[in-house]
Amino acid sequence: MKVLKFGGTSVGNAERLKRVSTLLPKNEPCILVLSAMSGATDWLIEITELAQNKKMVDAIEKGKQLKDKHIKTANELFETKMYRKRGEEFVANIFHRIISKLVDSFDSDDSKGIVAMGEQLSVGLFHMLLTEQGKRATYLPALEYMRIDRESEPDLFYIEQNINRLLHSNPFSTIYVTEGFICRNAQGKIDNLGRGGSDYSAAIIGNVVNATEVQIWTDIDGVHNNDPRYVDNTTPLRSLSYDEAAELAYFGAKILHPQTIHPCRMKGIPVLLKNTLNPQDEGTLLTEKVRAKGIKAVAAKDGITAINIRSSRMLLAYGFLKRVFEVFDTYKTPVDMITTSEVSVSLTIDNNTHLNEIIQSISWFAQVEVERNQTIICVVGDFLATHKGYAARVLDCLREVPIRMISYGGSHNNITLLVDSHYKVQALSMLQHLFISNPIRPIANSIEV
Ligand code: ADP
Ligand code: ASP
Ligand code: MG
Repeated sequence: MKVLKFGGTSVGNAERLKRVSTLLPKNEPCILVLSAMSGATDWLIEITELAQNKKMVDAIEKGKQLKDKHIKTANELFETKMYRKRGEEFVANIFHRIISKLVDSFDSDDSKGIVAMGEQLSVGLFHMLLTEQGKRATYLPALEYMRIDRESEPDLFYIEQNINRLLHSNPFSTIYVTEGFICRNAQGKIDNLGRGGSDYSAAIIGNVVNATEVQIWTDIDGVHNNDPRYVDNTTPLRSLSYDEAAELAYFGAKILHPQTIHPCRMKGIPVLLKNTLNPQDEGTLLTEKVRAKGIKAVAAKDGITAINIRSSRMLLAYGFLKRVFEVFDTYKTPVDMITTSEVSVSLTIDNNTHLNEIIQSISWFAQVEVERNQTIICVVGDFLATHKGYAARVLDCLREVPIRMISYGGSHNNITLLVDSHYKVQALSMLQHLFISNPIRPIANSIEV
């Protein structure tokens, strides 16, 4: 069984949905995991926010516009009049449910139910398309098997039991279609896996069905060596190890949801990133294996807050760092980077929800300073300490950029730097010189030092 995930742009209009239907594996059953049509989730979130702010007329108007987009898609998608009618009715019915939720005493619990309808729409239409094409396709409603626990972690046991139950009750299908992103939480309410979470859904499904491969289909030829949204002339990498890909995803490479690697790594399932708009391209293969040494790619993560903690007397005393980390533990706030000196420790967080409480708690035993609007720049590759020169070359590229923190040696896979967000694009562009001055070798895809 293969699991194929198609993102928002891959299912963004009728022509794209038809294209997806030509990309299915020929000789192996598959589960297709779809995102909402591009922009639909943003739009649905906006509708719920308008409703929360009691701007019902605007919310309903926005709902109508999104409905028109889906009705247009339904009209262009199907060959036959019968299916066009069915498609229109399906879309109208979902929007009827959205409007009912908005007008019947809307409360914030309804928001996630409304947001989930983006994926339900794209999957419903695509399933109808496969059926019209005469393919034996089965719909697997994600809300019947995808569940997170109290810690917002996937409940793998529940998911495995329930998806297998659904698969076994439709044993003659070779194509299964399901929603990415959406799930139920520990209370049974509709929830989701976070923005961009359809990649994660595909990885979780791959894990529980023991897939032979998870494919992530998007709008670019795999993982590039730098962020193509900010830097020109980036190029795709042909392979990365799970560790390298996980670092890139966590530190900002939008092509992969940060949690995607873990469920696949647990079972050694290869992940292949492919371009729906250019399926001939081989894409990027992620496996356990490191296939090349050296610097491979760069990514950036915005919205970082640096916290500097000073204590001239106690910093390096036994137990001090434990006290600091207990505060972050209490407020369930993960720390990304950390550097220390004799008198202070600096660390970064990407979630400011409990920042005030954290500052207050630490202020009891140390001085605290906070700098917002920071960006982590992450340089990823295979940097064995025995191979010289990586850090020097990275820092040399960044000589025009003020660097706030540097972290190196935590793993073989990254050199991480913190800069003011103002310098992000400059830093990424300067780091592209790492690849320009050292042309990538066709097989290794890395710079040998
Ligand atoms: P989808 O809707 O298919 O999930 P996303 O927009 O989430 O697609 O991810 C694909 C986008 O990620 C690309 O269009 C590209 O702009 C962006 N991106 C950021 N960093 C990278 C990178 N290192 N390699 C490839 N794409 C990247
Ligand atoms: N539709 C969701 C989002 O826009 C999930 C995804 O696209 O992966 O975040
Ligand atoms: Mg995505």
